[in-house]
Amino acid sequence: MRVFKFGGASVKDAEAVRNVVKVLKEVGHEDTLVVISAMGKTTNAMEKVVAAYFDNKSQISSSIQEVWEYHETILSELFQNKNHPVYEKVKTLFEEVKGFLAWNKSPKNAFVYDQVVGYGELVSTTIISEYLNEVGLPNIWQDVRNLIKTDNSYRDAKVNWERTQEQVSKLDTSKLYITQGFLGSDDNNFTTTLGREGSDYTGAILAYCLNADSVTIWKDVPGVLNADPRNFDETQLLDEISYREAIELAFYGASVIHPKTLQPLQRKEIPLHVKSFVNPTNDGTTVGKGVGISPKVPCFIVKKNQVLIKLSSLDFSFIVENNISEIFKLLHDHRMKVDLIQNSAISFSVCLDNKFNGLQAMLDELKRKFKVVCHEDVSLYTIRHFDDNAVKSLENGRSVLVEQRGKETVQLVVK
Ligand code: ADP
Ligand code: ASP
Ligand code: MG
Repeated sequence: MRVFKFGGASVKDAEAVRNVVKVLKEVGHEDTLVVISAMGKTTNAMEKVVAAYFDNKSQISSSIQEVWEYHETILSELFQNKNHPVYEKVKTLFEEVKGFLAWNKSPKNAFVYDQVVGYGELVSTTIISEYLNEVGLPNIWQDVRNLIKTDNSYRDAKVNWERTQEQVSKLDTSKLYITQGFLGSDDNNFTTTLGREGSDYTGAILAYCLNADSVTIWKDVPGVLNADPRNFDETQLLDEISYREAIELAFYGASVIHPKTLQPLQRKEIPLHVKSFVNPTNDGTTVGKGVGISPKVPCFIVKKNQVLIKLSSLDFSFIVENNISEIFKLLHDHRMKVDLIQNSAISFSVCLDNKFNGLQAMLDELKRKFKVVCHEDVSLYTIRHFDDNAVKSLENGRSVLVEQRGKETVQLVVK
């Protein structure tokens, strides 16, 4: 079986959905499980619904209405017959969101987030599955929450591999399946999510459990490039990269592949293809075993909106194991994601992603024990396979707050 993944950009409007059909017809759709994200920027829009629920209840209904209208436009372009059952199905999903918000008693943001935001994927796959049926690609709509079982760390759920394997083994591998990325469910069958951009990871989890022949993620770029074309003018396509290299790139923030995607694939040596949904028969990039990176060129990665914290001891004492373990406990407790660390005798710098908004509470605690300098809105640049020119091109006119060099990688925190 093959696993395909179509992300938000590939299903952002009716024309994009028609293009998915074109891709499936061109490259074949037998024995394929297709993982699909929410359409366009729906997940961001659903996050606004959650924010309204917690901070400004009067905005709930207009924020849901916005998401509905976006999908209604797509629906009306794809299905001229207004009596098509897809309309009822999608409306029911929106009613479920409203019902949940009306009845929910949990004050927990992350729990509510997962119950609400996941509807983006449920709606997109409902529309696309129905559309494929309509254009002669009969398929099964599969609720991925019945396949991927997780713990209850909402917004960042961990897969229960044994239970997931058991569920996935029940699939009929000769069929075309349409299922949701990003979602799972916990022991009580509440929806969980695997972290933003997690649909690539969904593809990998399912491929692992299916012993799939390959995974293809269809993108708006020709494949994995040596830099994000949104941030760099000149980019080059990487034809082949090893799992190891891809894990490194994704870990440092090359957002074309979700970092968790590679591990399950690497364990079973399932090749990952990253291809263009505009030119589906082009080779794109293959991630597999073997060669490090071809062609061997410097790769640039930037993570914007990071936070750099410099800690030093109040009494000029050393920052050693016991303080460091205390600092890391705080980072963990406040769900801060660590990008880079650097320490000297009496100071400790850490570059962080304030993904879950734990920064302020953590700073308050740190300030009781350390002198704290905090730079918000810094960028972390990473160059893999760097050379002097590559480093110079980044330093150019910028104020570098931290620089760290390894054999293959240089990282700069820049204001
Ligand atoms: P999806 O539609 O699957 O969610 P994403 O938008 O998450 O797709 O990923 C595709 C985007 O990733 C591209 O449009 C590109 O701007 C960005 N990107 C970041 N780093 C790279 C890279 N090294 N190579 C290619 N694209 C990259
Ligand atoms: N829809 C989710 C997100 O935007 C998951 C994904 O697209 O990968 O984060
Ligand atoms: Mg994405």
